[in-house]
Amino acid sequence: MKAHDGMYIDGAWRPAAGRDTIAVVNPADEQVIAEVPAGGAEDVDAAVRAARAALPAWAATAPAERAARIAALRDVLVARKDEIARTVTAELGAPLPFSQAVHAGVPVLVAGSYAELAASYAFEEKVGNSTVYAEPVGVVGAITPWNYPLHQIVAKVAAALAAGCTVVLKPAEDTPLTAQLFAEAVHEAGVPAGVFNLVTGLGPVAGQALAEHDGVDLVSFTGSTAVGKRIGATAGAAVKRVALELGGKSANVILPSADLAKAVGVGVANVMGNSGQTCSAWTRMLVHTSQYDEAVALAAEAAAKYGDRIGPLVNAKQHARVRGYIEKGVAEGARLVAGGPEAPREQGYFVSPTVFADVTPEMTIAQEEIFGPVVSLIRYEDEDDALRIANGTVYGLAGAVWAGDDAEAVAFARRMDTGQVDINGGRFNPLAPFGGYKQSGVGRELGSHGLAEYLQTKSLQF
Ligand code: NAD
Repeated sequence: MKAHDGMYIDGAWRPAAGRDTIAVVNPADEQVIAEVPAGGAEDVDAAVRAARAALPAWAATAPAERAARIAALRDVLVARKDEIARTVTAELGAPLPFSQAVHAGVPVLVAGSYAELAASYAFEEKVGNSTVYAEPVGVVGAITPWNYPLHQIVAKVAAALAAGCTVVLKPAEDTPLTAQLFAEAVHEAGVPAGVFNLVTGLGPVAGQALAEHDGVDLVSFTGSTAVGKRIGATAGAAVKRVALELGGKSANVILPSADLAKAVGVGVANVMGNSGQTCSAWTRMLVHTSQYDEAVALAAEAAAKYGDRIGPLVNAKQHARVRGYIEKGVAEGARLVAGGPEAPREQGYFVSPTVFADVTPEMTIAQEEIFGPVVSLIRYEDEDDALRIANGTVYGLAGAVWAGDDAEAVAFARRMDTGQVDINGGRFNPLAPFGGYKQSGVGRELGSHGLAEYLQTKSLQF
């Protein structure tokens, strides 16, 4: 695969300060497909300086001009969507149709939404005898994971650019080629030099250097809760802003009045998509005791249908981790009704679509984020019991509620401690705020709420 051997800093590809590299592996066949530079503190420093130097001019650009650049970026993402999908498939392992529809498709919607928001957002308002300005926070250090490699970059960078911020991106080490393609797209879109910069590298080296850098005003991180806590502590100590998009263990609550077959079918598909590597996946399916056995049979059937259509997990470490969780589920007494810990193929980091029945709320597989194609069916006795189970984890990122009518589902959803709930299979909305309650994070992404994260207010009194 095509790869740059430098960093994109100040509008050009520049050699890295050191000679270390990261091997990019195709998780479907375990072959090395490219090498990218593993940047260090020196590269991060050069990128932050470029971002800081570009900040005053970009921050002062008229919102309409920023909107035009983001619209141009969206157009490049459209023009290069096939290349993007092939690249995501090569380094993440997602099946090509999923890469085309989701990994290449969703970023186009999100970039388009920020082109419109940059043009229409009220960056200035009158409050009594004051004028309140929404001004850019400054230089953003963006640290992204591998599971939705382009979406997570665009959700941060398009919002930051719309706000008038400049950015240094440190993408995940497993998916740097998608990030390099994005940097090419930014360049092609005519975004001025220094406004967006890319440093590839390891999390504890380049990522940490970025989070700690004095020249960064806001750290926007998506990834594991463990790393998020460290980044939050570092940012807090420096009185720096921080946005954290962390893990989840979301509940799919099926109320007795719901269309059970539909709720179970959509619920299983929601977990299996992207091989279960979705932070907002509904990995706990909550079913009333009277419908439990039927739901188990439906879920097992739906998972079996997935069979070969599921892609591999991203790397050997995740492969071992997810299979370890499945073994733990068995050891703690849950009943396997589909899949299991055995690797279904000799090559590649594949895990079979797995369904557990007889899962109780305190089991490890019902509490911790597995990040693999594993769904747990938990029984509840009544609505209060369902709510207690749904809210009974440290996370609160997403969820789903199914009922005979929307009003009944909404009443339940309003009692859930979670940031986003799909009602009776609600559709993705790129303008809806996305983010967590409790340990799922701090801050919101997408839409105007996502834009506001990159703004700070100044009030002038008259
Ligand atoms: P991670 O948190 O280690 O990595 C996410 C990003 O943070 C990467 O860019 C990484 O390089 C960077 N990073 C790592 N250590 C850092 C540090 N000390 N300072 C600054 N940046 C650092 O996640 P992972 O190891 O790729 O995945 C582990 C688990 O995290 C998964 O099993 C899953 O549970 C969870 N996860 C969640 C999400 C999500 O969207 N919420 C995404 C990926 C992974």
